[in-house]
Amino acid sequence: MENDYNIIRSRRRSLAIEITDDAKLLVRAPMRMPEREIRRFVEEKASWIDKHIEKVKERNKRTEAVEPIGRWELRDLADEALRVIPKKVAYYAGILGVTYGRITIKNQKTLWGSCSSKGNLNFNCMLMKAPGHVQDYVVVHELCHRREMNHSARFWSLVGSVIPDYKACRKWLKEEGIIYLNKTSR
Ligand SMILES: [Zn+2]
Repeated sequence: MENDYNIIRSRRRSLAIEITDDAKLLVRAPMRMPEREIRRFVEEKASWIDKHIEKVKERNKRTEAVEPIGRWELRDLADEALRVIPKKVAYYAGILGVTYGRITIKNQKTLWGSCSSKGNLNFNCMLMKAPGHVQDYVVVHELCHRREMNHSARFWSLVGSVIPDYKACRKWLKEEGIIYLNKTSR
């Protein structure tokens, strides 16, 4: 393996490696750490690095293969979301025993959903590209904020009590859903 990499030095204590969105290796290193020590670290992590660079490259290929989402399709997705999401919200709010305010469907670039302190809920219309159980997870996630306005252990155990495989859902959003978030032209 011959991995090229950039080094960003800062006032930190340990080394960390990162694969960037364009599938490059980035090493975060303490100010004065010798280059050879960094090189050795990178060599030790070679198989992890290769695996993850491949993953990002593969994801980028899939992103390219997905057609850009135009204005009309976006409107269809929003219409569909308005039919699907409020029903799910009502259902899971019943299970969780929480109230909520307005439901708004948006097309945000980074967020799948949000919940205001007054209980108003926003959901991304791109959720319609996700499998049903992932949509359920996002709805439950936001509704759980009606009980816990944070991402504490208590919050996650509440989410897990309704959606036991929520970790797989989060993974889907991070690895697959991101493709759609990146596809809207704005
Ligand atoms: Zn949250």
